[in-house]
Amino acid sequence: MLARTPSCVECGLAWGRPGFACHGDDPSHGPSYWSDQGILCSVGCATNHFDKRRADGTFVPVPADCPVEF
Ligand SMILES: [Zn+2]
Repeated sequence: MLARTPSCVECGLAWGRPGFACHGDDPSHGPSYWSDQGILCSVGCATNHFDKRRADGTFVPVPADCPVEF
């Protein structure tokens, strides 16, 4: 059991809130976007996140396993 609801690492939107993109539009499948640092609510936040990661040199080109279990 998670201690707290996971949320978007970019904007803080909580998982399960309206607008949080989930895989196959089914929350039981988990989020559509994530990095090794956490989950991302939308393609917009994912783009911002990976742009920042490229800028600070921590971009990971290989897709990480989703860090949150659903
Ligand atoms: Zn977000």
